[in-house]
Amino acid sequence: MKRDYYEILGVSKSASADEIKKAYRKLAMQYHPDKNPGDKSAEDKFKEAAEAYEVLSDANKKQRYDQFGHAGVGGASGGGGFDGGGMRMEDIFSNFGDVFGEGFFGGQQQGGRGGRSRGTGARGSNLRVKVKLSYEEIIKGAHKTIKVKKYVKCDTCTGSGAKDKSSIQSCGTCGGSGQVRRVTSTFLGQMQTVTTCPTCNGDGTMIANKCTSCKGEGRVYGDETISIDIPAGVQEGMQLNVSGKGNAGERNGYPGDLLVVIEEEKHPELMREGLNVLYELHLSFPDVVAGLEVEIPTVTGKAKIKIPPGTQAGKILRLKGKGFPSVNSYEKGDQLININVWTPQHLSAEEKAMLEKLKHSPNFKPDASKSDKSFFDKIREAFS
Ligand SMILES: [Zn+2]
Ligand SMILES: [Zn+2]
Repeated sequence: MKRDYYEILGVSKSASADEIKKAYRKLAMQYHPDKNPGDKSAEDKFKEAAEAYEVLSDANKKQRYDQFGHAGVGGASGGGGFDGGGMRMEDIFSNFGDVFGEGFFGGQQQGGRGGRSRGTGARGSNLRVKVKLSYEEIIKGAHKTIKVKKYVKCDTCTGSGAKDKSSIQSCGTCGGSGQVRRVTSTFLGQMQTVTTCPTCNGDGTMIANKCTSCKGEGRVYGDETISIDIPAGVQEGMQLNVSGKGNAGERNGYPGDLLVVIEEEKHPELMREGLNVLYELHLSFPDVVAGLEVEIPTVTGKAKIKIPPGTQAGKILRLKGKGFPSVNSYEKGDQLININVWTPQHLSAEEKAMLEKLKHSPNFKPDASKSDKSFFDKIREAFS
């Protein structure tokens, strides 16, 4: 089970964007790998904090997290298709510019483990796909394999965009470092700033001869088969984030994310209402009078239920735990069965005569006090 993101950063759910940023900055400084060389637990904490910040600093992701927990931002399955293993170091460092200001760790990360170790062609865009799930798949959780049409890394040049190794040349502007230092005079004195090289966009290289397969882009349009673990309890319209499975970036730039939008397949007999499943059971008048055992559908197969003698129309029976699990808690819904008693619309002369006799029996007189619950109580109970 993953730790709560707010708990990781040590902030409350109502913390402002500024408080979240401050809390993260403090943890990132404390657990920074340069300060804790070879310390695995510091590295884990560093990654954990970065992941929490990545979600809570993004209004969209934060809202999904608040609503659906880790599953809403792609962390629930703890592995498989989702990026359960946390963030990559390069991604963490590449976000530092926003958190600490450009050039904060600039001196140390040049060409090393910092954000420039990877080609910096434009990041690939996010992709959105819809995945349709049956009620049964939603209750059990599902493993889906989908073929996605998208930009993929060019095989010919392994994403570099260059015809061959010798076509990749060092950038003339920055001499291959990917960064340029600028000294400016301010009223506070001389200030040195480090910024990304504008000629090579921080890549440090220039391509003399482009790869012919991808025309130098480092990616081609194709498809990829992606497997996704979908946690149990997802809902219509919910969006899961599969990190790095969107369009490939240009020249080995970061890939976009794959956003999986959940669609619920309609069930012919059952209807979902939050965590509960609703079912309407139609019975004949003699059957509710005498009571009987009937077989009814549930999301995971048939179930037998007992209808006690004298059951009133409109009674709601409950199959505990036969509903949907919650995607972010241990809660589980029930199946609610609404008893519907069929009133005959055509009668033979003989049946009419029989009813005429029964009509005057005191047993047939409605007695509201013997009915188990009022309409209002039932609605309140069913949807509370
Ligand atoms: Zn290529
Ligand atoms: Zn350059």
